[in-house]
Amino acid sequence: MSTALIELIDIRKSYGGVDSPKVDILRGISLRIHPGEFVAIVGASGSGKSTLMNILGCLDRPTAGSYRFAGRDVAELGSDELAWLRREAFGFVFQGYHLIASGSAQENVEMPAIYAGIAARERHARASALLQRLGLASRTGNRPYQLSGGQQQRVSIARALMNGGHIILADEPTGALDSHSGTEVMVLLDELASQGHVIILITHDRKVAARAQRVIEIGDGLIISDSASEQPPADTGQGLPAAQLRQRLDRGATLRGAWQGELLEALQAAWRVMWVNRFRTALTLLGIVIGVASVVVMLAVGEGSKRQVMAQMAAFGSNILYLNGKPASLGEQAGTITLADVAAIGQLPQVRHVMPVIGEKMMVRHGNHSQPFYVGGNNTRFPEIFNWPAVHGSFFSAADEASAAAVAVIGQKVREKMLDPGRDPLGQYILIGNVPFQVVGILAGKGASSGDQDSDGRVVVPYSAAAIRLFGQRDPDYVAVAALDSTRVEQAEAAIDQLLRQRHNGRQDFELTNDAALIQAEARTQNSLSLMLGAIAAISLLVGGIGVMNIMLMTVRERTREIGIRMATGARQRDILRQFLSEAVLLSMVGGLAGIVLALAVGGGLMLAKVAVAFALPAMLGAFACAVVTGVVFGFMPARKAARLDPVKALTSE
Ligand code: ADP
Ligand code: MG
Repeated sequence: MSTALIELIDIRKSYGGVDSPKVDILRGISLRIHPGEFVAIVGASGSGKSTLMNILGCLDRPTAGSYRFAGRDVAELGSDELAWLRREAFGFVFQGYHLIASGSAQENVEMPAIYAGIAARERHARASALLQRLGLASRTGNRPYQLSGGQQQRVSIARALMNGGHIILADEPTGALDSHSGTEVMVLLDELASQGHVIILITHDRKVAARAQRVIEIGDGLIISDSASEQPPADTGQGLPAAQLRQRLDRGATLRGAWQGELLEALQAAWRVMWVNRFRTALTLLGIVIGVASVVVMLAVGEGSKRQVMAQMAAFGSNILYLNGKPASLGEQAGTITLADVAAIGQLPQVRHVMPVIGEKMMVRHGNHSQPFYVGGNNTRFPEIFNWPAVHGSFFSAADEASAAAVAVIGQKVREKMLDPGRDPLGQYILIGNVPFQVVGILAGKGASSGDQDSDGRVVVPYSAAAIRLFGQRDPDYVAVAALDSTRVEQAEAAIDQLLRQRHNGRQDFELTNDAALIQAEARTQNSLSLMLGAIAAISLLVGGIGVMNIMLMTVRERTREIGIRMATGARQRDILRQFLSEAVLLSMVGGLAGIVLALAVGGGLMLAKVAVAFALPAMLGAFACAVVTGVVFGFMPARKAARLDPVKALTSE
């Protein structure tokens, strides 16, 4: 006598007992099913047939009793081995078909093979062949809602056969079909039985049951009658003997599937779901989009202003100190730097040049043009201190300075706006205020290198002329000092500080700064700005992550039945985990990409508004990676929740 394929000994199943009255559904079922059998289980509605089938198919565990599959106690099997049994040994056919609504017929049929790790090409070929064999060759691309009930049931039979389907468990397969389709399905099952598949058919219809070789009737949770002959049927040799399945179970359950195939399928499924719910998805992803966009924009603006500062530093030189009187404050008078101070500073050995500066925005006129420009009184050191020579004509001379000559050197923009481009600008007169000055030189263009276009809108005249002719005698607004070289800026600063204290009777009524200090100060404000934007980004990513978690929890709830179907066709817990995790990651990847696109758009807008922006690829990749990590972290909990669902509960959920 061959080993029974399936052996149930005194199986019991009861529900409730904790918060509701305990009901015994199965009250001691014992039966043996051998390879090659076609068994019908009949009984009234509510008699526990589906409950029995769920136990037979390892979707559910009995409350008591033992179930041996090919001699092995199922209670000892882990969740991966149970998944293997559902995938490789059983094929389920349900009354309600249980196809995945978002997949085509072909995809539905292929699903069990994906979990079995079968290569894509073989999978496609086998699914096509099965669909053709079941008369659905022209329907492979149709989604379930585009198929009739009979066609859907044939798709589900093809799915049951995908990995072999040695034991077909059919729960009222004709229950929802018209009589013609029902007959077709029964003919199919007959055929499969004659090819050696074990068929366990559950029905309440005795006419349907009559097609089976053996009819087991259950009522009240017990077997009322069993038409089995004493002897098991002769093994036809077509079916797989129990020993062989047992061997494969012992060996194969731990085999890993081909994760690439699964991942691809998971991503495709994820994309379909996202697309169907695109509006909801877009709203939920806003957090991630804003988070990623603000990180990228923040870094781009930071980098842009850093580069601008560097360019300015290169343009203006970095050995320059600025000196000005301290503005008036509580109880203290404003400090002033006098021309005598300037002369004294010029004598210090650490100082190369010194230049007093006085200036104001004034109306400049020529012919019928008039426009306000910054007019500065400087000395002849201007070209060296500011690294800003005259490129046409020449800078004014020491003699001009000594005689307070009414001569002017003008910036590129002043020339462009005020003077006739056809005429030589040198020798022409411009009116500053009401005072005529003769143009003797044109300054080199500064705007392009410093990034500050306004710096070319400038008129430079001798300090003496500015003081006498334009502003009236007064002390310099500030004094620019060039240290001997850029390594001696601090020494020069100390020397000037000491000298001025002496000259000002020990009062610190002046301020000394240098380019480096200015840049440091700018960097500090930049840093606090970055910190603030960084906080916004972090909060947005957090909100985005919660959004992802929310949408994934919704998805898991909406697709509980799909999860059940996947489990019934053999998905392991980790397959479900992987599926929902890849959905979460795909979701946040889409959010991350959208964030980068938004950042580029915002950056473009800022560029138009003349803000320095410099996008860096590492920053974008980093922000994108953050988004993906958010997806993994916040997608994990919902995915694990999905993976831990109970197959039967998931399958019967609404
Ligand atoms: P059948 O398939 O023979 O019509 P079922 O096996 O589906 O019967 O159900 C048998 C009985 O078990 C029914 O009375 C049903 O109400 C009960 N039942 C099924 N599932 C549950 C459950 N999860 N909790 C409580 N009772 C259940
Ligand atoms: Mg039922």
